[in-house]
Amino acid sequence: MKIYEKAPAKINLLLDVLRKREDGFHEVEMVMTMVDLFDRLEMEELERDTIVISSQAGYIPLDEKNLAFQAARLIKERYRVPKGVYIHLDKKIPVAAGLAGGSSDAAATLRGLNRLWGLRIPLDELSRLGGELGSDVPFCVTGGTALATGRGELLQRIGNPPQCWVILAKPPINVSTADVYGRFRVNQLNTHPSLARMMAAIEGGSFTAMCDALGNVLESVTLSLYPEVRQLRSSMRQLGADGVLMSGSGPTVFGLVAKQAKAERIYNGLRGYCKEVYVVRMLT
Ligand code: ATP
Repeated sequence: MKIYEKAPAKINLLLDVLRKREDGFHEVEMVMTMVDLFDRLEMEELERDTIVISSQAGYIPLDEKNLAFQAARLIKERYRVPKGVYIHLDKKIPVAAGLAGGSSDAAATLRGLNRLWGLRIPLDELSRLGGELGSDVPFCVTGGTALATGRGELLQRIGNPPQCWVILAKPPINVSTADVYGRFRVNQLNTHPSLARMMAAIEGGSFTAMCDALGNVLESVTLSLYPEVRQLRSSMRQLGADGVLMSGSGPTVFGLVAKQAKAERIYNGLRGYCKEVYVVRMLT
């Protein structure tokens, strides 16, 4: 039997770091939502007890370093499934971009194998299991829009943000999330984004207030390391985006606009010097 599962990209509307914990993780507050840019996963049961990953994307690991492999191994071991699986990853989400592509593939693998092997694991348990693979995986399992706290694994579902167009642009550099967090120093920050304002904007359905409340403290690190990200951020603004922010640890920058025509204008303006540009919608 073969099954298919979609793995959407995530963006952070707000990302704040409160402190570094004793265990080395950072205590965060994040408002995350999904957009309709997907990796597509095909999963097929194998009689042989083995996990095989393939992908058309030449630049991701296909062995146990792949997060989909790790997700398959985890669910197999935890639920004692004596079967194998072949997983094909049709990658569309840019890699190491701040869009949680790998985490979303891992989450889709957990959801898919739960179905393929008839395990009937409830979604919240699957989400907890995902936490063993990475901080963004629990959110990617459940999707929607959520406030994530702790190291990102404690989720509180919130209402959908006001619908709008999202322009995603990734400059041709790869950014390591671990490196950005490693260089981040909470005590060097002058201001923190306001979670209360973002929550009020979403609850009130105000697009303008949501744009004003966007904030990501990791910009302080990535923008100073990579001038091209800073440049992209200002171009997005100059071209007329109502709200602009870097997603996750970057380097993807997203712009929010209410009207499709404006989204297309910005897309055309950026494509001249940025190869990876997408116009998408929030998944609401
Ligand atoms: P996040 O926003 O969660 O930090 P990201 O978008 O910055 O994630 P990913 O695309 O998930 O980063 O990739 C990070 C690294 O993980 C890459 O360097 C890649 O080699 C590795 N990786 C492992 N599995 C996958 C996968 N299925 N898809 C993409 N990258 C993967």
